[in-house]
Amino acid sequence: MECATANILSDAYFIATADYFEAVDRLCRLVGSSEEFKTARTYTNEMHANCRTARSALEKHRADHGCFTAS
Ligand SMILES: [Zn+2]
Repeated sequence: MECATANILSDAYFIATADYFEAVDRLCRLVGSSEEFKTARTYTNEMHANCRTARSALEKHRADHGCFTAS
């Protein structure tokens, strides 16, 4: 079943996941420089929260609407 809303939410989730992994990757390379690390860690936590929010929005929509897409 094609659902435009689910597609949008799904895209948003993938983007949020990519942003999160990018943040984690950068965080890993920053270990050692404390100020930059703190900033990057805060950013990474925000990206993780975005990722979870995007996923629950998608899951909630699918549960409420009963739609499933291939992605
Ligand atoms: Zn839907």
